[in-house]
Amino acid sequence: MSLAPAPLSTWARNISPSPTLAVDAKAKALAAAGEDVCGFAAGEPDFDTPEHIKEACIAALKAGKTKYAPTPGIEPLRQALADKYLADYGLKFAPSQVIVSPGGKFSCYLAILATCSPGDEVIIPAPYWVSYPEMVKLAGAKPVMVLADDTTGFRLTPAQLEAAITPRTRLLVLNSPSNPTGAVYTRAEMEALVAVAMKHNLYILSDEIYEHLTYDGAKHVAPATFSKDVEARTIIVSGFAKTYAMTGWRLGTIVAPAPIAKAIAELQSQTTSNATTFAQWGALAALKEKEKTQAALAQMLVAFDRRRKFLHAELNKIDGVRCLLAEGAFYLFPNISSFGLSSEVFCTQLLDQKKVAAVHGSAFGAEGYLRLSYATSDEIIQKGVTRLAEFCAGLRK
Ligand SMILES: *Cc1c(COP(=O)(O)O)cnc(C)c1O
Repeated sequence: MSLAPAPLSTWARNISPSPTLAVDAKAKALAAAGEDVCGFAAGEPDFDTPEHIKEACIAALKAGKTKYAPTPGIEPLRQALADKYLADYGLKFAPSQVIVSPGGKFSCYLAILATCSPGDEVIIPAPYWVSYPEMVKLAGAKPVMVLADDTTGFRLTPAQLEAAITPRTRLLVLNSPSNPTGAVYTRAEMEALVAVAMKHNLYILSDEIYEHLTYDGAKHVAPATFSKDVEARTIIVSGFAKTYAMTGWRLGTIVAPAPIAKAIAELQSQTTSNATTFAQWGALAALKEKEKTQAALAQMLVAFDRRRKFLHAELNKIDGVRCLLAEGAFYLFPNISSFGLSSEVFCTQLLDQKKVAAVHGSAFGAEGYLRLSYATSDEIIQKGVTRLAEFCAGLRK
């Protein structure tokens, strides 16, 4: 007698695995098999974590910082983060409003769990980071995607937002600078959007993980700086991964109004306890040893900016490709709709025929585009974009 297969839960059956991690894994497997792959799929800096941060972590390990930490994070790191928000944005937060989590990704999930109930609607501007809709579904809530394509610079307009709001709308997700498009909202654009959100009493999840990665003089605008009312409705998510090349450390941050911060700490206490203790001591050095950190970041920004401009110029030389020059993060999001293939077919053929890994726009809710990460070496970018040009020329024949 054989047992029937155990049924999986609603959550397990309804989740779509991360397509960005899947494409990256496929590219890495090809590379491991000896193929000469040009990877534009990974959403992480190619640099190593700055030395002083690693040293601080090693010192913490040696000093026995190997036990559980307080659930919301080690006290000096929460204080240093509160200091950072004051210095960078003039925002005054008590350390009790700051939470350190195991990654910006988990920070987003906690923020959604703390604000959304089953049946609530969450507005997610597309192209969106792949995890938002899945996290909303895991909270039992309903993701409502609204497409802002390249005709508006991938920026949602207030009219689009207004039209998407219903009595069930609870939360608006904002991510500027954006993954996958690199778009950065100007202050005026952000103010106009946030005004609509406030009119309808929405919460705002502001994912500011790319806050320090901007170019051409563009500046990240934090909605919480607009007014006390906005601050009281906004949950700021950020982290160490993208700014300091610390993706593997799994450290994210949340800053929220006191009642939400308390709820988030309680959710964290019953799910992950705390972010890795010695990793937090390493991260503290990123905030405390400011000069070293600034120098490392400045170097990374110079490299990212050079690659951004080069890749942008090369993409626009390709017949049939149209690409905006994004001002933030480390992605470009070229329009490839003129080739008449779905973005998924385009990317599969590109990887199979030319060994170039890119993520299809449809994964981010925007058909007709590709996401290319330029957080990779100049050499790979040069080789990869040459192959992409050959591939596109082949499609034109
Ligand atoms: C990378 C990323 C995160 C969080 O990354 P972690 O590695 O979990 O810290 C959050 N939001 C966006 C948009 C990202 O691209």
